[in-house]
Amino acid sequence: MNTELARIHPDAHCELDFRTPLELTVATILSAQTTDKMVNSVTPTLFAKYPSAVDYAAADVSEMEVLLKPTGFFRVKTKSVIGLGQALVARYGGEVPGKLADLVTLPGVGRKTANVVLGNAFDIPGITVDTHFQRLVRRWAWTQESDPAKIENAVGPLIPRKEWTILSHRVIFHGRRVCHARKPACGACALALWCPAYGDGPVDPGVAATLIKGPDAAARARAAAFGLPIRTPGEIAALAGGEQSA
Ligand code: SF4
Repeated sequence: MNTELARIHPDAHCELDFRTPLELTVATILSAQTTDKMVNSVTPTLFAKYPSAVDYAAADVSEMEVLLKPTGFFRVKTKSVIGLGQALVARYGGEVPGKLADLVTLPGVGRKTANVVLGNAFDIPGITVDTHFQRLVRRWAWTQESDPAKIENAVGPLIPRKEWTILSHRVIFHGRRVCHARKPACGACALALWCPAYGDGPVDPGVAATLIKGPDAAARARAAAFGLPIRTPGEIAALAGGEQSA
């Protein structure tokens, strides 16, 4: 499944715009309960106004709230981002630390954010267990755990460590584009051959193709309709000798 994920999501990457560990930490904090696209719409102004941890530490609460309002939960996020700046200045010389144990002590930073920062800003492999990752690995029976730390521990040994970060991006891409929470596009899913949850969503290729999202949704839908490269139930049946594989 990991190989197939790489084939169907060769463009998987962190969808938050950033240039430094500080920018990625702030952007990831802001991404709670909103889209990466929304975060990317506010961060150019934010990053220009607050280029360093010192600037966040000294920020005016009201001004910051105005900037962060479009991302939702802006009061909590303002408190976290200003608190982040103050903690970085007080304990880490104004720099974002490159260790999980340190990152999770910072305001607004949990394991998910810490792994995003480690994997994408420090090139230290990390598994990002967000809502998509959690849903998909459970559907695939990679684990039945629901606690993010336990999911990390269960999935980590299944995949080479150096691939943890890119695996996270691929799984999240698949969750955002194909394997949705309510109606997964099973009939247009390249992983159907191996997926124990195949059938949780529509298996008709035409119906499933309409559920696919993302910038390449039209191309993927066309491919699904022709059986390439996203496999249809007919191709799956042929590959599996007429039986669905679990
Ligand atoms: S077959 Fe269905 S449930 Fe399984 S990964 Fe694909 S879309 Fe998700």
